Amino acid sequence: MAQKKHPVIILGGGPAGAATAMYLLRKGITPVIVERAEHPRYHVGESLTGASQIALRALGLGPALDAQNYPVKHGAVFYGPDGKNDFWVGLVRRDEKGDQVPNYTWNVMRSTFDKILFDAAIERGAIWIKATAVAPIVEEDAVVGLTIRTPDGAADKLYSEVLIDASGCATFLANHRVTGIKEPGASDKQVAFFTQYANTIRDDGPELSQQPGNTLLYYQAKHYWAWFIPVNDELTSVGVVFPTAYFKKTGMTKEQMMLHECRNMTPVLSERLPDLTPQEPIHAMPNFSYRVRDYTGKGFLCIGDAHRFIDPIFAYGVYFGIQEGEFAADAIARHLSGETKTNGNPFAEFEALCDEGNDVVEDVIGVLWEYPLAFQRIVTWRDKVDSLDLLAGRIYGEEARKNPARLAMRRLMATRERERAEAAAAKASAESPQLATVA
Ligand SMILES: Cc1cc2nc3c(=O)[nH]c(=O)nc-3n(C[C@H](O)[C@H](O)[C@H](O)COP(=O)(O)OP(=O)(O)OC[C@H]3O[C@@H](n4cnc5c(N)ncnc54)[C@H](O)[C@@H]3O)c2cc1C
Repeated sequence: MAQKKHPVIILGGGPAGAATAMYLLRKGITPVIVERAEHPRYHVGESLTGASQIALRALGLGPALDAQNYPVKHGAVFYGPDGKNDFWVGLVRRDEKGDQVPNYTWNVMRSTFDKILFDAAIERGAIWIKATAVAPIVEEDAVVGLTIRTPDGAADKLYSEVLIDASGCATFLANHRVTGIKEPGASDKQVAFFTQYANTIRDDGPELSQQPGNTLLYYQAKHYWAWFIPVNDELTSVGVVFPTAYFKKTGMTKEQMMLHECRNMTPVLSERLPDLTPQEPIHAMPNFSYRVRDYTGKGFLCIGDAHRFIDPIFAYGVYFGIQEGEFAADAIARHLSGETKTNGNPFAEFEALCDEGNDVVEDVIGVLWEYPLAFQRIVTWRDKVDSLDLLAGRIYGEEARKNPARLAMRRLMATRERERAEAAAAKASAESPQLATVA
């Protein structure tokens, strides 16, 4: 008997997988979601971008999300070392006339947020198979399905026209060498510890920058920072991030380190945390920055964290999952209808588009870490309007390519890349002068 072939199987029912399912359903394509976890489940990544709020409302999820009374985020306050030189970055959007106006979003409890998205995808027609994906099924040069293990331990095979890897940092297809390898990302060799605390001190003033739901970021030094993200009336997500080498030198446990950094990183964080009783276990995420190349091909594509995660500081993670889900649904609909004419990779354009947005964000974050003073000058003064567009998710296409803030940041990062290449060449020639001369 011929195997039933699903038009699309989505591996992973996080925000990327669930949003993609809803975009596909709008195009008349019914996807199967293979997800092993039951929602609600804990997940890090609570601060959303303004663009995510707009996309989620456009998906019809506004009323369900409003009903959660999530803290409303109008932007982020950046505190410099020792709490000095703080600055405010407000969320913006472009209105119908093209003017830049204030925007807002939610800071969310991911357990309930992810459940709302997942349940909406299922209610609208996506089919959930509760199972663990074990291996992709590859025939010749194409992915044609997935081997799964159901909770009772049975193995099964599912066949698809297109398999979407939305498995998050599990990077399923990369692990199975269908894509390129998982390479360390630009913010590699760091570790984040995080939990949730009650009784935190939030702002409560008349200005947008003083609203209680805002995200607070504490910058200390390159790759050394903390976040304070209110996730409901009671709880605030707090995370501390630093180079792994710094953590190892302390000899502390993750619990001790969390406590130590909350108290000692900077007084302006400590004074907001009178009660350091963790309301969640202390979670750890080492080496969270990575990249996978060649993540599309015949019968497959990856979205969201399944192909890249740059750095959490500007909270683009969920946004990339949702936006790439929309791009993926377009590309898949064109492919399944026969509109995409190619004998090669039908999703090459999709991959180039996703890379473009990710590269912009990598530069924005790169400039923050490499040139913090220039970053502050560009974002708060010199190219403020254009920078806010980038932070608002206007990171694709011609508009992003011509954005003066984007160009300034690319120039700075190109300089840094050149310096690194020259330093590496100098080191190589010092270590092996003869080889360097021959080369
Ligand atoms: C320290 C840190 C802080 C962050 N802070 C933010 C933030 O403030 N804001 C933000 O937007 N982002 C943040 N992020 C990133 C954010 O968490 C992710 O970008 C986002 O969750 C990605 O969504 P996703 O759907 O791609 O993956 P996920 O949300 O991870 O979903 C993947 C799903 O796939 C399922 N799955 C995986 N493997 C299998 C398998 N083999 N079989 C079956 N199911 C499987 C998992 O159970 C999971 O439900 C942060 C990340 C880190 C590391």
